Amino acid sequence: MPINNEVTTVGIDLGGTKIAAAPVQGTNLISSEIRKEATPHAENSEEILDLMARMVDEISETNKISAVGISTAGMVNEKGEMIGSCGNIPAWKGTKVKKELEARLKMPVFVENDANCAAYGEFMAGSGKNFKSMIMVTLGTGIGGGIIFNDQIWRGAHFGGGEIGHLKLHSNKTRRCTCGAWDCWEAYASGTGLNNTARTFMANPNIDNYQLMDLHKHGDEDAIEVISTWHDHVAQGIATLANSFDPEAFVIGGGLAQFINYPKLNKKIKDKVVDALKAHVNVVEGNLENDSGMIGAACLANVELANQVTV
Ligand SMILES: [Zn+2]
Repeated sequence: MPINNEVTTVGIDLGGTKIAAAPVQGTNLISSEIRKEATPHAENSEEILDLMARMVDEISETNKISAVGISTAGMVNEKGEMIGSCGNIPAWKGTKVKKELEARLKMPVFVENDANCAAYGEFMAGSGKNFKSMIMVTLGTGIGGGIIFNDQIWRGAHFGGGEIGHLKLHSNKTRRCTCGAWDCWEAYASGTGLNNTARTFMANPNIDNYQLMDLHKHGDEDAIEVISTWHDHVAQGIATLANSFDPEAFVIGGGLAQFINYPKLNKKIKDKVVDALKAHVNVVEGNLENDSGMIGAACLANVELANQVTV
């Protein structure tokens, strides 16, 4: 089902520190109307739900809104309920987000994992819009992933699809991952992983990634070595994903996306994939930046709404 460009939805991005919401007509973010509020650190989820509803009500005063899409940390089931842990919003665990917000707003609400929303946003409105299949790799403190095939998010049989940060780079038991296992991709290629590599190789054991990038920019040989090693780590995981899924493209987002040398990364991946795929490696930078989750959630609401109406 294609997007309906006549319909306006609200995309909400729930983060650990802030909630952002904006109207999106079709795939077009109305950026002049982005609203941001601090995320309430309430012990239950009521305050977060009430605040989201209030933000939608305010946007509805000047826009005809047909549905709402929510981008949230954590896994979401088919009923729009949070399952498992929810990152740095513990109160959100177990919340029946769709049911609660539909009761408050009296309109359809759709809820999706934030990495999936970011991927869907880039797929519908950003760097991925010319492809039928893509994998989004979000390189931040950790690694997020979203897999799109045949125009749809691959959610997995148990809503855990796309957890690409925990694929294994090797079995040497060298670095512990935040998930408790050894040598996940995230422990090497994320911002945390890059910083670990830098602290191991650089003279300054307290170096942060900003200092590292600054040294790299000024031609420091050790920094160049660390960044090159990091590109190897990023390439290793993408090569594994390319061999497994063979998508048309990979889109890189997150705070570290700007530090990737894309021609160099594409070449490193080509050296690692099976022969049949060497001519087809295509890794590009996302272009929606921090708005990808909000736009993705809104687009998802638009498409799901159309599905609902025709059923
Ligand atoms: Zn892990």
